[in-house]
Amino acid sequence: MDVPAFRKQGHRLIDWIADYMEAVENHPVRARVRPGEISARLPQSAPEAGEPWDEILADLDDIIMPGITHWQHPMFMAYFPSVSSPPAVLAEMVIAGLGVQGMMWETSPAATELETRVMDWLRQAMGLADGFHGVIQDSASSSTLCAVLSARERATAGEGNAQGGKAFANLTIYSSTEAHSSVDKAVRIAGIGDSHFRKLPVDGEGALDCAALEAAIIDDKAAGLVPAQVVATLGTTGTGAVDDVATIGVIARRHGLWLHVDAAWAGSALLLPEHRSMGRGLDVADSFVMNPHKWLYTGMDCSAYFVRDPQALQRTFAILPEYLKTAQADVINYRDWGIALGRRFRAVKLWFVLRSYGLDGLRSELRRHVALARDLAQRLAAEDDFQILVPPRLALFVFRYRPEGVTEGELDSLNERLLAALNDSGHIYLTRVRVDGRVAIRVSVGQTGVEARHMERAFHLITERARRL
Ligand SMILES: *Cc1c(COP(=O)(O)O)cnc(C)c1O
Repeated sequence: MDVPAFRKQGHRLIDWIADYMEAVENHPVRARVRPGEISARLPQSAPEAGEPWDEILADLDDIIMPGITHWQHPMFMAYFPSVSSPPAVLAEMVIAGLGVQGMMWETSPAATELETRVMDWLRQAMGLADGFHGVIQDSASSSTLCAVLSARERATAGEGNAQGGKAFANLTIYSSTEAHSSVDKAVRIAGIGDSHFRKLPVDGEGALDCAALEAAIIDDKAAGLVPAQVVATLGTTGTGAVDDVATIGVIARRHGLWLHVDAAWAGSALLLPEHRSMGRGLDVADSFVMNPHKWLYTGMDCSAYFVRDPQALQRTFAILPEYLKTAQADVINYRDWGIALGRRFRAVKLWFVLRSYGLDGLRSELRRHVALARDLAQRLAAEDDFQILVPPRLALFVFRYRPEGVTEGELDSLNERLLAALNDSGHIYLTRVRVDGRVAIRVSVGQTGVEARHMERAFHLITERARRL
């Protein structure tokens, strides 16, 4: 494709995206294809000769679109949102158009300096202390892996990198049972091992039991182990529970542990002064992650990792072969702040989104989602045959259908069937969760286009479908 053709097709593709944005509600929320159905329509090998663009675009509509689950659909209330927005889409075009690989300052000074600045904007917007330094990672999983590796190297004074496994054979890591699976994964990748990962019980609210944390640390020390890190969660994935970071921070300090705080979804709500208290104690954390790609309109991918001591990252990750040596001193080379060498220019997305919406604009979007979730929860709570198992936490709540005369044992399968019927309908998409052993249905609100009428629709779909079971 030459540049004149790109210009023409690019305008056309923007129209295609804009049409999609306007009509996203006309699609079934969850893709309705069977496994293998899409791949059966794709050639086994790449074409030898280039194909006409019109045919490629036609296949996008014809083959790919039926296999899309519509994350930007206002009735997508599953998992956590992965909200995109027009400025984020435009930013992706700039990122791809420039095709910059921002591994270090010299390979695009603007990429590094813009990243530093917008991450600091975000830090201020969330009320994080000015001792935190931000870096964009691809995912919260990668951010948490950086935190685990940094904690490992701090606890072994760099001997982990130098000697390998035998240097960190005694390290232990702590979180609650409700922490995200990305922590488990990071513990494995870092070589700490499942058997040295303590998943501690939670209280009635789903928050880490701090007394159990301290007891486990003391036990492990007595057994000759070296507690290295605790991972606290703001907004657990299952029920949005919030760990008591202030108390965990005191325990972490007392015993010399690295405190990493995972706020992948809920971190966006720190933009709202009325929800700031959730982050009480954050200032003593060693690292913190939140995902603008979840609830802050940047779309996949953009994960904001903040660390108090950037040297800890560099001690963990910096390796300097001849070909990466550059002349400048006193510049940031973000290749040393994470796992990958090559880096996308994701800062443009944050820059466009923060400037285009403004902090006030983003705050009103978040408040709108919180209010919509609360309204739907209140309406369901007012129905005798529905029960709210987890009242709204930010824009998330959990309910279950509980009609008269049905035994506890039957309720689980009744709710499984309700969820399947709703998700199969294509009109709404929700997630299954277990709360205190009971199967329940989780509602998570957060789309760009979601309005009161969608909550109205959700209420009718859920109640009517349930009563027809
Ligand atoms: C979604 C989520 C993650 C994982 O985020 P990725 O960016 O997909 O890796 C981690 N922790 C929590 C609490 C989450 O909600």
